Amino acid sequence: MADNLLTSSNKDAMTRREFLWLSSLAAAGLLAGCATNPVTGESQLMLVSEDQEIQIDRQYSPYQFSADYGKTQDQKLNNYIDRTGKELAARSHRTHMPYNFQVVNANYVNAYAFPGGSIACTRGILLALDNEAELAALLGHELGHVNARHTAEQMSKSMLTQAVVGGLAAVAGAQGAIYGNIASQLGQVSAGALLASYSRENERQADALGMEYMVQSGYSSEGMVGLMDMLNSMGQQRPNAIELMFATHPMSQERYQTAVQTAETKYKAAKKNPRYRERYLDTTAGLRAQKDAIDQMQLAEKEMAKENFSAADTHLRQALKKAPSDYTALVMMSKSQLVQKKWAVGRQYAEMAQQSYPQEAQAYHLSGFAKVKLKDYDGALEEFNRYDSVLAGNPNTAFFKGYCYEGMKKYPQAGQEYRRYLQTVTQGNYANHAYSRLRQWQAQGLI
Ligand SMILES: [Zn+2]
Repeated sequence: MADNLLTSSNKDAMTRREFLWLSSLAAAGLLAGCATNPVTGESQLMLVSEDQEIQIDRQYSPYQFSADYGKTQDQKLNNYIDRTGKELAARSHRTHMPYNFQVVNANYVNAYAFPGGSIACTRGILLALDNEAELAALLGHELGHVNARHTAEQMSKSMLTQAVVGGLAAVAGAQGAIYGNIASQLGQVSAGALLASYSRENERQADALGMEYMVQSGYSSEGMVGLMDMLNSMGQQRPNAIELMFATHPMSQERYQTAVQTAETKYKAAKKNPRYRERYLDTTAGLRAQKDAIDQMQLAEKEMAKENFSAADTHLRQALKKAPSDYTALVMMSKSQLVQKKWAVGRQYAEMAQQSYPQEAQAYHLSGFAKVKLKDYDGALEEFNRYDSVLAGNPNTAFFKGYCYEGMKKYPQAGQEYRRYLQTVTQGNYANHAYSRLRQWQAQGLI
């Protein structure tokens, strides 16, 4: 086997399945052409139906949540975010959408929305917020994107300009804003690759809608001012932690100024409404107890982005000293070891991560990857099967299972998995490997 196969980056162009999907959307969409925007009532270029928005959400959001180390295991915190979000959603323009809100275990500062109403915020951003009104502003802003159908709008524009939006190829060979190269070296999905990038006009509209929803829900309009102030100052002090937020949600001084002005004029009466600071601080107490560990992980991420792995390891050891069973810290430590080709240590950390959060998929991929490198193909296959049982449908997993069977010289099974991979991904190093093996084995009469 070519050794560079599992270490070089795997950039894919449009896959066949994605091409068919886009073609069918375009065929359906060109008949529809435009739709009335649920927020503005104006005609909007729209090639994506509401059913498709929901389907895209269901198909892709689980991969993003997993790339962000899964939902928090703090049930009380997650319920609180979901409840707060759903109260805002009840005042939105599309109350019928299947909304769900969660906290993901990522450390960087971000929040995002999929087009069907799956909305997440990271524990990193929750640590940076001061009160529930700021949280409501954040979730309201994300609801604004869903309600004004910004992702669907961006996708429609991309289709017309033939620029391909993230699809299953993005899952298979993603390049993300934060250490995407490391993720692809480990055959993983990198954070951010599946998220829409909005225009500045989209951001203005989402801010306005967010403020409307939060004020209607009874919060102080100052919540939006506080949120913008926090994002602005963090962008200046710790730009690295907020990079992905700025990449997906263009930030500007203007957005802060608009929030200040709107709070003073249109929503002046709502300024005195409560911010629910106590309730916010109470519910996030468990998270804030982890702050030192999360700070260390943010520093480690910064070093990993610069490929300074020994510095990253130092911060991760500090994080694990403070939070020994933290899933994110264990997964990060595993990644750092694997990128440094320390396969056995990387496997150990991945196994500890699995024990700490058995319902989350990423650690199974990492231990499977480590075992492939250690030529323990039976063991690796078991890990990839476990990954599949937690998070099905990742084409990379089919490739790795094929690779395991190949290592075990079980060619018919290997051929089956490689064919399954090629149904989704047709370009890149993995696809080339799968094709050439299938051709070779057919010629040799092995399959
Ligand atoms: Zn935004």
